[in-house]
Amino acid sequence: MSAELVSKPSAHQVLQTVFGYESFRNQQEAVIEQILGGGDALVLMPTGGGKSLCFQVPALLMPGTAIVISPLIALMQDQVMALRQFGIKSAFINSSLSTEEVAQVESDLINSDLDLLYVAPERLMMPRMLSLLSQTKISLFAIDEAHCVSQWGHDFRPEYIQLSVLHERFPAVPRIALTATADETTRAEIIQRLALDQAQVFNDGFDRPNIQYRINENQGNARDHLLRFILNEHEGDTGIVYCLSRKRVDQIAQWLEAKGLKALPYHAGMSNELRQHHQERFLREEGVIIVATIAFGMGIDKPDVRFVAHLNLPKSIEGYYQETGRAGRDGLPANTWMSYGLQDVIMLRQIQQGSAGSENYKRIEGHKLDAMLGLCEIISCRRQALLRYFGDEMEEPCGNCDNCLNPPETWDATQAAQKAISCVHRTGQRFGVKYLVDVLLGKDDERIMQFDHHKVSTFGIGTELDAKEWSTLYRQLIASGYLKVDFERHGSIRLTEAARPILKGEQKLTLRKMLKSNKSKLRKSRSFSATANNDLWEALREHRMTLAEEQGVPAYVIFHDATLAEMTERQPQTLEQLSKITGVGERKLEAYGESFLAVILSHSTSEKLVDKSETVAETIDFLAQKLSPEEIAGRRNLTLSTIYKHLSLGIVAGKVSLADAIRLEEDEIKVIRFAFEQNDDGKLKSVYEALDGEYDYGVLGCVRASLGN
Ligand code: ADP
Ligand code: ZN
Repeated sequence: MSAELVSKPSAHQVLQTVFGYESFRNQQEAVIEQILGGGDALVLMPTGGGKSLCFQVPALLMPGTAIVISPLIALMQDQVMALRQFGIKSAFINSSLSTEEVAQVESDLINSDLDLLYVAPERLMMPRMLSLLSQTKISLFAIDEAHCVSQWGHDFRPEYIQLSVLHERFPAVPRIALTATADETTRAEIIQRLALDQAQVFNDGFDRPNIQYRINENQGNARDHLLRFILNEHEGDTGIVYCLSRKRVDQIAQWLEAKGLKALPYHAGMSNELRQHHQERFLREEGVIIVATIAFGMGIDKPDVRFVAHLNLPKSIEGYYQETGRAGRDGLPANTWMSYGLQDVIMLRQIQQGSAGSENYKRIEGHKLDAMLGLCEIISCRRQALLRYFGDEMEEPCGNCDNCLNPPETWDATQAAQKAISCVHRTGQRFGVKYLVDVLLGKDDERIMQFDHHKVSTFGIGTELDAKEWSTLYRQLIASGYLKVDFERHGSIRLTEAARPILKGEQKLTLRKMLKSNKSKLRKSRSFSATANNDLWEALREHRMTLAEEQGVPAYVIFHDATLAEMTERQPQTLEQLSKITGVGERKLEAYGESFLAVILSHSTSEKLVDKSETVAETIDFLAQKLSPEEIAGRRNLTLSTIYKHLSLGIVAGKVSLADAIRLEEDEIKVIRFAFEQNDDGKLKSVYEALDGEYDYGVLGCVRASLGN
């Protein structure tokens, strides 16, 4: 082997030194191998799964420039900005650049001075660009958001169809197509239209385990309900609230703002400048809530969106999954919340029926809406249903959706379901819901006569329910996977394997009652302010913000929340230790290492608590006056976590009783003590997680302090 070959870095080395990540996730490594070996790949990974690295790492290892085709300008800018922070030579070409800037990028390209170049598909197809590329050494083509080639998809981009040209013009260059939203039909379409039949398919499934799904029936107070949700669980967090109409967007944004939240509207009726301005603030400031129509979000890959709320029903599960998918891209816990009501359904149906599309198109849209409604109504795990819709099976209920956490009121629908399914079977699996309901109700109908279906055994056996209840039941059966809609055969309803045990009476079926009262007792999802050392966490965020403002980039481009959280938890004391933190690569260590270390050292927990007897004594005094820890924090203008630290020192010193400090029931204290016994690594985090985040770190710290007594 020549010396040159030996010194060439491996994919692993690039991952660690350039990006600062310890190991590859899921199928990343396999995909990278496939591309390095000169093959094509189709990559299906959930949002936040790490698709970008699948082409960025090969781009750094292979000679020449990787051409990345991406549908949106904002996305390109963000990615290039983030890549440059890692010290990677990258650029983009699109209409936002001046002629001089374009010329500069073009000359860098010809001189092989770029590892990655991002272009929009329409730009790529211009003769000038294609001829430039033919003079360039190209390492690979990456086609991001590949589902945009699908005509039935919701993000169809006509220019994407022409991308098959790449294969014809550059047959030797490996291609990698990536998407987070492709059901089986769309996958087949991507392969066919992009001529990817030789590609290896890598499927990581679509699950987003860190996202909690919640869907509430609107009982006329959706707005207040939303406000409570934000204040209780997401104060100070970044979030998105989706509404159906522009008017509603304006109303809700104003209302939230009046309630003291940093809420900004975003919709197509606003001026370009104002919209742009609000988007920038959302990206750059902390804790901004964007209230928007669905026009917002495509091309936004802000990683630390902590919640996505829908005040209206999305038109399809695809839309819902994509919109909610904008939460928690950084892999940290995030919440989705939706309120839907009958009004939404009526409005959506009107929009859809009044649309200009063909009958076939409208029918498909109608089925998609039905499937979305089905998701709203099921009583079983939402995540299982979502994943099933995209063709993924999940064995067990997830434990992280409203139905898992707070099971809804139900009725025994076994018999009715048998009738409904059997009616599908008896009429030959060739009809839609309306026809089936007519048969069940024994309607005097010409078509039914024509097919002789007034003679089947299910004709007229369903008079105990009305038409609306039957169609609700069908929707529920479709959503739960007992029946399916065959889009290729005009939306006829068909049986699945799962229907058999119901028909045979081997399985009972329980369904959500139509209108139930909604007393939520959901557990709170973890918020980031709940890290063990609040002061340090805040100080790191502030420092990050300063750096970001200096450079005019969003904060997360400097470091992600996850990286700061790890710094807070591990409190590295040297550059060497800091380099071990996820997300700290060589370039960022060099650029930011010293200054972040300084922040950490000045907030080190151990140092801060030495010689604090005076301030501790003051807290204890307040406690003796029967003030709660929250009240003491307010009175002293200190954080709650500091007060709890004082109290835990007081407990160790025998000056404070645990019962006075934390005011929990004896049984709860027993549970927490038990959790400490079970998780004896001494870390609060383990116990915090074992208790599902029910108790603050401060409370846990006090209990731990009492264990020695
Ligand atoms: P996608 O494009 O699939 O939505 P990204 O490529 O943007 O996801 O990755 C999501 C986040 O996960 C990014 O912040 C990325 O840096 C991070 N990430 C990706 N791969 C890894 C890895 N192997 N280890 C740690 N973090 C990773
Ligand atoms: Zn679940």
